[in-house]
Amino acid sequence: MNLHEYQTKFRFAEFGIPIKRGKTATTGQQAYDIARELGGHVVIKAQVLAGGRGKAGGVKVVNSPEQAEEMAAKILGMKIKGLTVRKVLVDPAVNIASEIYLGIVNDRSIGKPVIMASSEGGVEIEIVARDNPDAIVTESIDPFLGLLDFQARTLASGINLPHEHWRAFAKIATNLYRCYVASDAVLAEINPLVITKENELLALDGKMVIDDNALFRLPLLAEMRDTDAEPVEETQARAAGISYVKLDGQIGCMVNGAGLAMTTMDMTKLYGGDEIGPANFLDIGGGAQAAKVAAALRIILADLNVKSVLLNIFGGITRCDEVARGILQALDEVKTNIPMIIRLAGTNAEEGLKIIDSAQLTNLTSAATLTEAAKKAVEAAQGAN
Ligand code: GDP
Ligand code: MN
Repeated sequence: MNLHEYQTKFRFAEFGIPIKRGKTATTGQQAYDIARELGGHVVIKAQVLAGGRGKAGGVKVVNSPEQAEEMAAKILGMKIKGLTVRKVLVDPAVNIASEIYLGIVNDRSIGKPVIMASSEGGVEIEIVARDNPDAIVTESIDPFLGLLDFQARTLASGINLPHEHWRAFAKIATNLYRCYVASDAVLAEINPLVITKENELLALDGKMVIDDNALFRLPLLAEMRDTDAEPVEETQARAAGISYVKLDGQIGCMVNGAGLAMTTMDMTKLYGGDEIGPANFLDIGGGAQAAKVAAALRIILADLNVKSVLLNIFGGITRCDEVARGILQALDEVKTNIPMIIRLAGTNAEEGLKIIDSAQLTNLTSAATLTEAAKKAVEAAQGAN
């Protein structure tokens, strides 16, 4: 689960990381009131779950409550990377001397969190990693020992931070790690961490991603989920117990098992080339009862980009004949003309395919292998274009 900037920074503050404390607004009038309270010189910041808001025009410094109102009204409703801005953060503006990056992620290859710092703050770290990888210094953290002071100093020295800021920097790094652990985060990042003209260190922007599997024990964070800010399909999928991630291709994928779903997506891309690809990741999990299949189908078909659907089911404990009946029942509820290609493999696959074929639905085709299914799904999508 992604937290908004304001949620992240308020959480940071609880762990002793210095921030400028502003307030959020959903109207120009509210922004006016907050700006007046803060003395007029403020920054208006779009709260959407995406980076690069500055470049997109979603972060603007203004000098009066009137300007704050006007700018907030302009930013509210704006679309940034496809997401509509419904809230802005009004923060006291800061005079920036320089911008640093500081972030923590889990490094799966070593099974430890890794803390990264860079003198190239303010820029998306993925871009720094691509264009100027030497500008990033990292230290891996032993979860048993935590972040050690010498490691924070190694980072400070690695990014040529002036010595006078080392102590404050080490404190922020330590607190960021405490916050990361206490929040069951898989990412916690300050970008930029700025040195102000008044020579203070300050977290100007914050991003946190919380491990969904830990939300049951973090009720305060779980409550922060902003369903307004995520695609509707993802909210519906969560309610139905389906793992779903919306993508921008044309082939809707319904698969049981996460690994099989990834493979299925890869196959559509392999045969689809640059033009055609997966419209989503979707794992209906085990069981695959009719109700769940129907819910998944509804979610997939709600995406208007979808031109064909590829159902790839492996029957293990779940029997393919059961799944086939579920699919037909679902298609009875969710009427559609969109071509669907079904591949069933594993337990009772033959019976399953017989059930599918005997239904004689014109938009339903079965395939014996995933290769054949992927090719057919691509062809069907191309045919529709
Ligand atoms: P992002 O583009 O989504 O990462 O949003 P940020 O919160 O990181 O803001 C982008 C950039 O706007 C920062 O790197 C700063 O250069 C600038 N910025 C943000 N807040 C202020 C501020 O209070 N004063 C000034 N002068 N610049 C700011
Ligand atoms: Mn940023």
